[in-house]
Amino acid sequence: MEHGDFRDKSYWLTTRAYEPGPPLPGDRTVDVAIVGGGYTGLSTALEIRRARPDLSVAVLEAEVVGFGASGRNGGFAMTLFGLDLAVTAARFGDARAAEAHRHMRSAVDAVGELVGRERIDCDYTRGGLLVVGFTRAHVERLESEVEHFHRLGFGDIELWDGARVRAAVDSPRYLGAKHDPFCAVLNPAKLCWGLRDAAVRAGATVYERTPVAEVRLREDPIRVVTPHGTVRAGKLVLATNAFSRWLPALHRKAAPVFTYVVMTEPLDTTRLGPIGWKGRQGIEDARNLVHYYRLTADDRLVMGGGAVNYFRGGLPGADLDERIHADLEAHARWLFPSLEGVRFTHRWGGPVSVPLDMAPALGTLGDGGRVFYSLGCVGHGVSLSIKNGEVLRDLVLGEESDLTRLFFVNRRVVPFPPEPLRWVLAHAIRDGLVLHDRWAERGVRQGPGTG
Ligand SMILES: Cc1cc2nc3c(=O)[nH]c(=O)nc-3n(C[C@H](O)[C@H](O)[C@H](O)COP(=O)(O)OP(=O)(O)OC[C@H]3O[C@@H](n4cnc5c(N)ncnc54)[C@H](O)[C@@H]3O)c2cc1C
Repeated sequence: MEHGDFRDKSYWLTTRAYEPGPPLPGDRTVDVAIVGGGYTGLSTALEIRRARPDLSVAVLEAEVVGFGASGRNGGFAMTLFGLDLAVTAARFGDARAAEAHRHMRSAVDAVGELVGRERIDCDYTRGGLLVVGFTRAHVERLESEVEHFHRLGFGDIELWDGARVRAAVDSPRYLGAKHDPFCAVLNPAKLCWGLRDAAVRAGATVYERTPVAEVRLREDPIRVVTPHGTVRAGKLVLATNAFSRWLPALHRKAAPVFTYVVMTEPLDTTRLGPIGWKGRQGIEDARNLVHYYRLTADDRLVMGGGAVNYFRGGLPGADLDERIHADLEAHARWLFPSLEGVRFTHRWGGPVSVPLDMAPALGTLGDGGRVFYSLGCVGHGVSLSIKNGEVLRDLVLGEESDLTRLFFVNRRVVPFPPEPLRWVLAHAIRDGLVLHDRWAERGVRQGPGTG
């Protein structure tokens, strides 16, 4: 297989020299094989080795560590579970929505603990999250969400009025915001490389440029076939997220949806001064197809989200979309007039894994108790997929725990229908979300980027 330069997949992947590790050197036998070298796979490897140093663990990554969403994301370690609180509560009930939120808080804490314990240099800043509204309908949505959080017992989630939010981050468009103290922003690729180093220090082996072509799940041990050799494993973890088309059992559970990002040159004081943003909060808006934005360590504005793409049949590698990137740039200038004329230096994109009900799912595949998977973190998997490494550890080790009893572990995932119905359904859901956003923004010009 030909490998392009992974560094063109995101700005983050250029921010540190990274020499990929070796591919699988030939046939091997291990206790646990993990397919996929993103946060999920690496965190699972680290956690298993920390708990059971006697077990041999090998991670097999098709490209390089961080090649997938883990090296391309916005770098928000946040509490969002599924689409939003209202949808999660409607689907699973209030008690489970509260359980999900408590879990997500522990996931945000887990990232902070990991970064501190393993001394991962990833520009980690815990400044909280502002979910901003720029229309009356957005603000009403935020008011109702904050009330809902308060009813569930999360009194530290606050509603900020327009003056308060503009005193923190000054956009003339902001009418109000929800403030959630549980959010950090970080450099996602540095986090992923740091996680890899931690897993290796703990004794896991990471093979890069080792695409898994086939898994024979009925054999004992399980046979994992790559062009460089075969791995025989007692247990197998599938951590391939949105890149799971090669495995029908996972492909049916979620659709790969592409989301896009743009980034400016470093902002000098004439541009950043009028905005303020001293608290370096992560910011999202109150849309369904959110825009999310933040500052980097060297004061670039990163903006992602808005419109998304789903392609019939899966992943044609469409990481770039001229129209969506232009919309994101226009939206940044619309929000912050001091950015007029700023240079956008980077554009990229990548796939997230979206189940039909937009809620994450992980658990045991089949009934043999030997194969495990995780998918469906949508665009909110930085903290969750790292925490999922602890859940997968307990599943692999066969230990029942509070983590394995979480309601979304081993939940029934409603499968997507086969193509072409899958395409029709994915577009219908996306178009429904877009229509709802347009309704909430009627009469407000917010750049061409309406998603
Ligand atoms: C543009 C973008 C922005 C995002 N922003 C945020 C954000 O700000 N906050 C947030 O919480 N979440 C965000 N997300 C989501 C978050 O990045 C993901 O949920 C998370 O990184 C998923 O990690 P993972 O390890 O499960 O998957 P990935 O990081 O996608 O890893 C899967 C890996 O599996 C490998 N693989 C696939 N097939 C094979 C095979 N056959 N053999 C071997 N290896 C294989 C891939 O190469 C890949 O490296 C964003 C995602 C994208 C794309």
